[in-house]
Amino acid sequence: MKQNETLLNTRPSGSMNNGEMKHKPFVELSDVIIDEIGDNHVSTSVNTPLREDAFVMSEDQKIEKIEEHFRSIMEIMGLDLTDDSLKGTPRRVAKMYVKEIFSGLNPANKPAVTLFENKYKYNEMLVEKDISFFSNCEHHFVPIFGKAHVAYISSGKVIGLSKLNRLVQYFAKRPQVQERLTMQIGKELQAALNTDDVAVVIDAKHMCVASRGVNDVTSSTVTSFYGGKFKEDSVKQEFLKYLELKTDI
Ligand SMILES: [Zn+2]
Repeated sequence: MKQNETLLNTRPSGSMNNGEMKHKPFVELSDVIIDEIGDNHVSTSVNTPLREDAFVMSEDQKIEKIEEHFRSIMEIMGLDLTDDSLKGTPRRVAKMYVKEIFSGLNPANKPAVTLFENKYKYNEMLVEKDISFFSNCEHHFVPIFGKAHVAYISSGKVIGLSKLNRLVQYFAKRPQVQERLTMQIGKELQAALNTDDVAVVIDAKHMCVASRGVNDVTSSTVTSFYGGKFKEDSVKQEFLKYLELKTDI
């Protein structure tokens, strides 16, 4: 948070004319700062920064508006929208944003989590590994993809395995930064399972690092979230051993 504050150019837009801000100050960022935030993948909070009126518009209204604006972007770039191949692109992109790749912004799409009694008293660690996911970097709007590994120790309830998968997909379908994705999954699992004993490791590739910028196609980014017993070294090591990512953390 602090680090981010130092990156901000604190000149509020619109304050030049009347000297006071009527709404939440909108901070303008210089191009240099914009690139810096993107390249360093700085995020500002665990919660996805959403406006209060985020869901006032219906999905159909959003699709219509995005279609309109995406058509403008393409036109500005000089593309001929009368071409048969390009004609449908603005609408396709709009539908894809709202219904697919950013559908996880809408809490209405959050998977319902069903819990079961832990009848057989399994109180060891449960690890669901190699959950593949696709997300998008919120700084560049290009894909982040990889694998999530999640684990928990039951406090008396167990969760259907497919729900672990669905929760990962839900949070992935937002403009994201990997650190936030990791924490959102971890915190949601803690709340759903009513236990702190949750771990999440994500190993992912960022197309904004691979296909532009530093053009590094081999690196991947690993982030982790350890709660409760998973902060203990032996428990953490057991988890990492299942992932074959043994380290000497
Ligand atoms: Zn990026």
